[in-house]
Amino acid sequence: MYALIRKTRDGGELTREELFSLTSQYVAGKIPDYQMAAWLMAVYFRGLSERETADLTQAMVASGDTVDLSQLPGVTVDKHSTGGVGDKTTLVLGPLLAAAGLTVAKMSGRGLGHTGGTLDKLEAIPGFRTGLSPEEMVAQVRRIGLTVVAQTGRLVPADGLLYALRDVTATVDSLPLIASSIMSKKLAAGAQVIMLDVKTGSGAFMSRPDDAFALARAMVAIGTAAGRSVQALVTGMAQPLGLAVGNALEVKEAIATLRGEGPEDLRELCLALGSRLQVAATGGSLEGADATLRRLLTTGAALERFRAFVSAQGGDPSVVDDPDGVLPQPRAQETLLAPQSGFVQAIDALKVGDAARALGAGRLSKSDKLDFAAGVLLTVKVGGLVRAGEPWARVFAADDRRLAAGTALLETALSIGESPCRPEPLIHGSVDPTGAETRFEV
Ligand code: URA
Repeated sequence: MYALIRKTRDGGELTREELFSLTSQYVAGKIPDYQMAAWLMAVYFRGLSERETADLTQAMVASGDTVDLSQLPGVTVDKHSTGGVGDKTTLVLGPLLAAAGLTVAKMSGRGLGHTGGTLDKLEAIPGFRTGLSPEEMVAQVRRIGLTVVAQTGRLVPADGLLYALRDVTATVDSLPLIASSIMSKKLAAGAQVIMLDVKTGSGAFMSRPDDAFALARAMVAIGTAAGRSVQALVTGMAQPLGLAVGNALEVKEAIATLRGEGPEDLRELCLALGSRLQVAATGGSLEGADATLRRLLTTGAALERFRAFVSAQGGDPSVVDDPDGVLPQPRAQETLLAPQSGFVQAIDALKVGDAARALGAGRLSKSDKLDFAAGVLLTVKVGGLVRAGEPWARVFAADDRRLAAGTALLETALSIGESPCRPEPLIHGSVDPTGAETRFEV
């Protein structure tokens, strides 16, 4: 290990065998944390080559179980978001893609976030189970083309151990380590076609677009080296996605979107991600795939698939018809009024996320219990016009203390100015499976 640390520290390239050995020996407890921490810091400063990053990722995948989806009918697809405030795209995209005939067998982690992850959002639906056995998962996918389950600790144990070490050694923030961490879990989860949604903006890991494109290129290269079809969109996270931030609130907004309603940015992002996945999986044109997916939203086919999905995983399917009657409701709420008239210049996603967490919608430590009903419901987006004294957001919590803490944070998220303002682009560009980058603004 001493030699490997020195090699990376001095800018040398580790071989595939060295990376496999380093990973397996660490998982086996044969490399002490202080040496692995030193190697991670060497990576932080020196980086890894594209080949090293791909090999490290495959070594991490080999550290645990992998999911074999090859027995399932249809093309297996997956999507991953690097995380954002109000990002409930999986709740919309899963049923939508299943309704389009694709096979979605998704595993999700339960990270620390401003709001819960996808699993937490789904668990806001009374009865919903995310801990399915592999047999239950396969049977459900055969029946309805869709499942979302909790990732087990046996999937990529190397990532769990390395991430915990990175977290306490200031080495989380390293592009090859982030790319290998995310992609190891995607590769282990088994899908043939993978769409990455790499966020940029204040509420994202990579706040600058150039860094987000670099992460997207690195992850696509890892996937391609492993023989999968992987592509990415780089999308905006300067303001929250949609209007709802908080677990039950986001379920309700996803249901509205599946009904062909819901906020435009959420719908358009789901269609942009979904149509590219559809083309990568089954061919055809982007315009054709977009038209098909739009039709599945307006005819109710995607919504019915969501109902079947909720029911199959033990949730109360009447949430589709009566979200407020089924989802947990808050005990306290307050309306925020605009302090002045003008155009909304910014609704800072990071600050909205902090507010949602203070209200009880997210965790600060792994053991924190979520309040599913807590969160923020915006009534404006960037570029919109507000008048002094009119509502711009509502906040929900379990008690007045949390309500006050969340309100104080949320008030700092809003900027109003006199001049008209164009929001940041929803989609900054794409990285295709060959690694070619296109910048465009939607
Ligand atoms: N998400 C991950 O899964 N891993 C990282 O390193 C960063 C974000």
